[in-house]
Amino acid sequence: MEIISSILKMKKLAAREEKSGKKIGFIPTMGYLHEGHLSLVDLLRDCSDLLILSIFVNPTQFAVGEDLEKYPRNPTRDIELCRERGVDLVFIPQVKDLYPEDSSTFVSEESASKHLCGQARPTHFRGVTTICAKLFNLCRPSIVALGQKDAQQIVVLKRMIRDMHFPIEVKVGPTIRESDGLAMSSRNEYLNSGQREDALLLNRALEAGKSLVVEKGITNVDRIKAELMSILRKGRFLRINYAEVVNCETMLVESEIQPERSMLVVAAWVDSVRLIDNIKL
Ligand code: AMP
Repeated sequence: MEIISSILKMKKLAAREEKSGKKIGFIPTMGYLHEGHLSLVDLLRDCSDLLILSIFVNPTQFAVGEDLEKYPRNPTRDIELCRERGVDLVFIPQVKDLYPEDSSTFVSEESASKHLCGQARPTHFRGVTTICAKLFNLCRPSIVALGQKDAQQIVVLKRMIRDMHFPIEVKVGPTIRESDGLAMSSRNEYLNSGQREDALLLNRALEAGKSLVVEKGITNVDRIKAELMSILRKGRFLRINYAEVVNCETMLVESEIQPERSMLVVAAWVDSVRLIDNIKL
């Protein structure tokens, strides 16, 4: 397995591989890898000739006062996990190379990124689309894997790929959870045991909302949202950001449940840790 941190080296290698007809699979991550990330490696392994995973804690997707400095990092362990899982190349670029001091260009999606997480974090998705555009240009993937856990990110990135004419297919992997249902996240590391109990309520609320739809046939959006809220409110440390029923293609809120396209989405802070989760119906 190759490890590259020079963007010039990465660019040259990817261009060469692309030219020789190799299909490049790519997984962008911020590292501190867990099974959620590694499941995306499994998703792409058989359909890529060169499988690249990037590790980069992207400063532009964090706002001032968020957890950029304390975001967990362990590149040595990440590299080992990539090696065991069959990644071909780990790309670990540096901030100064991806964002030179006078860099002044951003890529911004202007619709799907504006509500839900985009309201609580107004500059977040602009950071995500900008870094992904840079990484796509350097790594030249024809296929990219994203996790269902970040549902709005999928919609925003698919739009960016379409609108900017990147020749990239997106594969989405399911949300990987701990045995108690908590969606895996590098940020779970921050939670103490009381906070973790509260964090479990996100998944519990989503499952309860889904069972109202699937088992009781309820399609009234307000009734479903009331169910989500009542469970989330049980958390001692939990502060609800949103609990919504949205269209999974657009992330726009639904006025009526459409089982084949509606999705329940929640976001909450457990103390200062912001958690998100979702479930398809
Ligand atoms: P991150 O390192 O948090 O930026 O995530 C990198 C990629 O891994 C994104 O496509 C995420 O959606 C995906 N991912 C993160 N957590 C999970 C999870 N629990 N299950 C599936 N995919 C995940």
